Amino acid sequence: MTLLKKKQGRFYDTWEETPTIDRNPEVRKRLNTYVTYAAQLPFYKNRLKAYQPKAAHPLQEVPPLESSEVRSSLPPHSDNLVVPTSEQFTVFQSGGTTGMPKTTLFSHSELEALDLPNARGFYACGLRAEDRVANLFAVGSLYMTFIHINRMLQNYGCVNFPFANNSLNEFVHTVVNQFKINVVTGVSSIVLSALREFESLGSEKLKIEKVFFGGEHLYDADKVEIKRKFGTNTILAPGYGTVDTWYIGYQCEETPSGVFHAHDDQCFIEIVNEEKQQAAEPNQVGMLYATAYPRKITPIVRYRVGDLAMWLERPCPCGRTTPLFKLFGRGDDVLRIGYDSVEYASIQECVLKVAGVSGTVQLVKSRKAGKDLLEIRVESEEPQQEFARLERELHKVIVESRPAFQMMIQKGLIEPLQVKIVPVNSIERNQRTGKLIRIREDIIS
Ligand SMILES: [Zn+2]
Repeated sequence: MTLLKKKQGRFYDTWEETPTIDRNPEVRKRLNTYVTYAAQLPFYKNRLKAYQPKAAHPLQEVPPLESSEVRSSLPPHSDNLVVPTSEQFTVFQSGGTTGMPKTTLFSHSELEALDLPNARGFYACGLRAEDRVANLFAVGSLYMTFIHINRMLQNYGCVNFPFANNSLNEFVHTVVNQFKINVVTGVSSIVLSALREFESLGSEKLKIEKVFFGGEHLYDADKVEIKRKFGTNTILAPGYGTVDTWYIGYQCEETPSGVFHAHDDQCFIEIVNEEKQQAAEPNQVGMLYATAYPRKITPIVRYRVGDLAMWLERPCPCGRTTPLFKLFGRGDDVLRIGYDSVEYASIQECVLKVAGVSGTVQLVKSRKAGKDLLEIRVESEEPQQEFARLERELHKVIVESRPAFQMMIQKGLIEPLQVKIVPVNSIERNQRTGKLIRIREDIIS
């Protein structure tokens, strides 16, 4: 039976329409069961003494689990986070946007269990039986995403084209034409560069109706470009999660950029005001923590995800009762320049105001003569003779949007802002995952 045929009720499954009043006791029950399960490991035994099952925020006193702790408590370093079991597992490694690759273990039943949040998210974003899907997610080198998305597409009940991220774009373009592929899914940067190349290969016949992205944020400037070139109606993220945890959220056809429904039957999700060490209020930004119930061979309790988020109190117009949160991206997607904090997202907003530049942006901080220097690199498809004009326009928009920055330049505290327009595909990507390297700090002593 396909995943689509297993659909129950108005949405993909009945959890999505369970009234809040019935949802909360079930959430608590799942958390209790999982905390009891995790406490069998010496690693958690002491930490979980601080669990308060009756409190409004039952994990508030439990120490957060840091990414570095997970690394050092998993093979090849140790077995501290591994529950002894007869079930075998698959070892994955993720590129990690910084530092060493991250190892993670998924038992084979855990991999199967990914079908539910995957199907829920893809259904909510509009994947249907008649769709023909090009899967461009990353494969090989122990990378995880392609494998489970491929599995899900096969089980879902649509047509599946397992290209992965290492197929030549020219080949993908030919097959997309031959088979009238109407859906593309993959990491945002890979999807973007494939689509841009399709256009240069002749896109008049292509109609990419739906783009399902993941792995990193797709900014509005890029969405505008895709809609304009390919007549795409739907550009959404069916799943937001991390390899250290699980799927945490999913978009639906009504969610704006960056807004997700919570998979609150899969994970216990907290948004924490870390300064006060307490739960963030609704509409207040905090750090996302996740406790991932389906992770059984390596229990994950109160993992500090590293992304900033905010609970939205409003219900979604789609009618799903799974709560909404807004995601603000990596907490470290911000560069300290002088005494100003330049957020990546704020530069994206400036880029959106200048016609002819794309949303493929990199911020580079370096030091020159003891002063901070910020260079903003942006890709553009315009002819090179336009670059100088675009640089001036974008420079003006950024400077006008940041009076504090301009003040520091005038006082000589930092170097003048540099804006550099570059041709498409010239900003470096992570070689393993294809993800754009959005922020770089060049340390020069
Ligand atoms: Zn919705």
